[in-house]
Amino acid sequence: MKVTVDRDRCIGAGLCALTAPEVFDQEPEEAIVLLLDETPPETARHAVEQAVDRCPAGVIQLH
Ligand code: SF4
Repeated sequence: MKVTVDRDRCIGAGLCALTAPEVFDQEPEEAIVLLLDETPPETARHAVEQAVDRCPAGVIQLH
């Protein structure tokens, strides 16, 4: 599984980091998403799918 994020369109809502903290974090100042793991293990799939659904800006993609 491969994950990408469009950081230019991230609004810093932080739901991704709350939902899948092993894959997403946020920059300390602007809260823009940081992708910690571009190729997370299959065990993280459910959490990443939830993050995709919850991201209000729709900027997380699962490939
Ligand atoms: S949930 Fe979406 S908008 Fe919010 S920080 Fe994560 S990627 Fe950015």
